[in-house]
Amino acid sequence: MNPLRPVILAAAGSGRMKNAVTRVPLTAAVVRRFVAGETRGELAPVARDLLASGRMISVDFLGEYTTEQSMANAAVAEYMSLIDDLAALEAPHTLVPAVEVSVKLSALGQSLGADGPAIATENLHKLCVKAAESRVWVTVDAEDHTTTDQTLDTVRQLHPEFPWLAVAVQTYQRSAEDRCRRLTAAGTRIRLCKGAYQEPDTVAYQRRPDVDASYLRCLNVLMRGEGYPMIASHDPSMIAATLVEAAGSRRCPGDFEFQMLYGIRDPEQRRLTEEGHALRVYLPYGTQWYGYLMRRLAERPANLAFFLRALAERG
Ligand SMILES: Cc1cc2nc3c(=O)[nH]c(=O)nc-3n(C[C@H](O)[C@H](O)[C@H](O)COP(=O)(O)OP(=O)(O)OC[C@H]3O[C@@H](n4cnc5c(N)ncnc54)[C@H](O)[C@@H]3O)c2cc1C
Repeated sequence: MNPLRPVILAAAGSGRMKNAVTRVPLTAAVVRRFVAGETRGELAPVARDLLASGRMISVDFLGEYTTEQSMANAAVAEYMSLIDDLAALEAPHTLVPAVEVSVKLSALGQSLGADGPAIATENLHKLCVKAAESRVWVTVDAEDHTTTDQTLDTVRQLHPEFPWLAVAVQTYQRSAEDRCRRLTAAGTRIRLCKGAYQEPDTVAYQRRPDVDASYLRCLNVLMRGEGYPMIASHDPSMIAATLVEAAGSRRCPGDFEFQMLYGIRDPEQRRLTEEGHALRVYLPYGTQWYGYLMRRLAERPANLAFFLRALAERG
């Protein structure tokens, strides 16, 4: 793992650091590498370009750890308008819906005290009703491990009504393989990712080879299971293993998809798409980009260097 990862992820939770970073005017250049813009107006041309290139999209309205009911209500209202905007885009004819939204339950109110999980479930239900009318899919992001059980509980509750509702599984969690078995047996759409938060050893593997080995075990379970696997990784080894698993389990495009983050390995995204694979780009927008940016910097020292260089140049 990147030795600076714990430090950067700790900074992601620091209010003082957040104030310092978000006030520096450098942000446009660095943030724009990973974030489509701050408004739906800025998002629209980026989304259109990605769709025109044959890629699918999953749009995330940035925001997490809502502390007030009014913020959760505002997030729901934004997602409602977003789904309208996305449904109006000209999407390519793909085997599965080309447009999806990604949602963090903490943005929908999950952390609002004892009622939080019920509030988040109700809010997610509203979004799913709207999404179903618009042929837009919904995936629930995986956040830190303290939210995992509640998040899975919400998805389990809504799955019978919205069988296309998906959830992310983080392979750094020691329980990931078992979770994949249970979710795939229920036919769930699952986004498989390594995991982006700082977690204790009791919960998560700390060494990269262990996280990767867990990814490969989960991949095997999902590709041979009943659900729809979404392989969210930029790692060439995971992509190669997916192609081998797809051949072994006779899965074709439409039976699984690749996913990558906006701004990361763009040529590889295009290559896989041109080869006929289904590929979806996770596309965030909004003003609350700080936590998301910090997680991207933590993943790769080169990103941190890019960020510091931009700081020095502008400073
Ligand atoms: C579509 C999608 C959705 C995700 N959703 C979630 C979620 O819900 N919850 C969650 O915890 N995590 C999520 N993640 C993040 C994920 O957990 C990892 O932190 C991240 O994807 C890096 O892991 P990797 O599999 O790409 O492999 P790594 O081993 O980290 O990276 C492999 C290679 O990919 C490239 N790369 C990876 N990250 C970066 C980067 N930031 N900048 C530049 N190059 C990079 C580099 O070439 C690197 O060598 C998501 C990732 C994707 C792609």
